[in-house]
Amino acid sequence: MLDALVIGAGPAGLAMAATLGEAGLRVAGIAPQEPDAPWPNTYGIWVDELEPLGLTGMLGHSWHDCTVYAGDDEIPLNRSYGLLDNQRLQLHLLARGSRAHVQWQRARAAQIEHLPTHTRVTTESGQAHTARVVIDTSGHNAAFVQRPPGRRVACQAAYGIVGTFSAPPVRPGQLVLMDYRCGHLSASERREPPTFLYAMDLGDGRYFVEETSLAAAPPVPFATLERRLHRRLAHLGTAVTAVHHIEHCLFPMNLPLPDLRQPLVGFGGAASMVHPASGYLVNAVLRRAPEVARAIAQQFATGDPVPPRVARAAWQALWPASRLRKRSLYLLGLETLMRFDLRALQGFFTSFFALPQPQWAGYLGDALSTMELIYAMSGLLARAPNHVRRALIESAYHNRDLLWQALSA
Ligand SMILES: Cc1cc2nc3c(=O)[nH]c(=O)nc-3n(C[C@H](O)[C@H](O)[C@H](O)COP(=O)(O)OP(=O)(O)OC[C@H]3O[C@@H](n4cnc5c(N)ncnc54)[C@H](O)[C@@H]3O)c2cc1C
Repeated sequence: MLDALVIGAGPAGLAMAATLGEAGLRVAGIAPQEPDAPWPNTYGIWVDELEPLGLTGMLGHSWHDCTVYAGDDEIPLNRSYGLLDNQRLQLHLLARGSRAHVQWQRARAAQIEHLPTHTRVTTESGQAHTARVVIDTSGHNAAFVQRPPGRRVACQAAYGIVGTFSAPPVRPGQLVLMDYRCGHLSASERREPPTFLYAMDLGDGRYFVEETSLAAAPPVPFATLERRLHRRLAHLGTAVTAVHHIEHCLFPMNLPLPDLRQPLVGFGGAASMVHPASGYLVNAVLRRAPEVARAIAQQFATGDPVPPRVARAAWQALWPASRLRKRSLYLLGLETLMRFDLRALQGFFTSFFALPQPQWAGYLGDALSTMELIYAMSGLLARAPNHVRRALIESAYHNRDLLWQALSA
């Protein structure tokens, strides 16, 4: 029998399988595709988030000239951003796993059976795998992780093009994290759910431009994003001349938390680990896999690793009370941003990126304590223009259940 079976070979699955193997457990993973099959998404990450993990070598591109246009003015971020070289990161995680004897098999998990001493997973082809603990990393639409119904689910949606353009859509060497300028939109379009441009110079005359809706329920349709992207490009005086790749991005920002008493573990999108206010996840799975693996390994060290006990320890490591409090604050942030019209969003982000960098970076990277987070949010309230401050207070009142959970849990 295996110690641990990992379901899924995305960033969460490969990170978790390698880390559990390195913790000395007997680990196998299953996924419908080969574990080194290309990941379909483009993953952005802040360079300073990879530094403590020793993983800056996993970047395919990086930019020092990183900016935001919240209103008409450009805000320099003075922080480096990168795109992961997916294949390099996959091979790195797989090599670590392979040194720790992690075995991967092509299969889709179809059924799970929770028994008192172990768990049995049956694949679509009928093969059974038994393990002391199962870690479901099968993404936002998880194969087995159970979650109670929660708030309405808001999705980030984006339509992106990698290609060449009649004129550069951003200046050479620039990364635009968010461009909320709206000169190309009619008065009625400015009242629709706001979208922004995420864009970067990939070198060799290629650029990635993506029209993005940070979060909306229901999500902004791809057709709207595509139309807006081309309108925005025309307003910037450019047009697509060749398409190399199209990215359709759609994922939930505020999936309800899983039931933390279930006898299997979730990790990654399956465990609602997406940062509710930014949509980022990869930093979290790379950073947090060792904490969860350690909690699991400790249960094995006790000599009686029955599934409910191992899973409880893992969920506790993943979602301790302090993180639940912070999540309530991030959810409040998300609900607030979804209530904002374009003008309020522009005012909000101008004030947000005027915060000291450790505060805005810590907020986006989930690196602040609850008190530091509250301090950063108060700083934002203090420096925001009156119309934004009023809207922030209204949202806090409207979502006082989240505020209460954050302050009382
Ligand atoms: C287009 C897009 C762009 C994104 N960009 C960023 C970004 O720039 N930065 C960032 O931090 N986050 C980003 N995200 C958010 C998040 O990081 C991704 O959704 C990420 O892929 C989630 O990782 P995961 O490993 O949890 O799940 P996934 O990457 O979805 O991997 C799930 C794995 O489980 C497998 N699987 C599914 N069902 C089964 C089954 N029944 N049995 C076995 N295996 C199964 C799948 O085949 C896959 O291997 C983006 C998301 C999308 C959709």
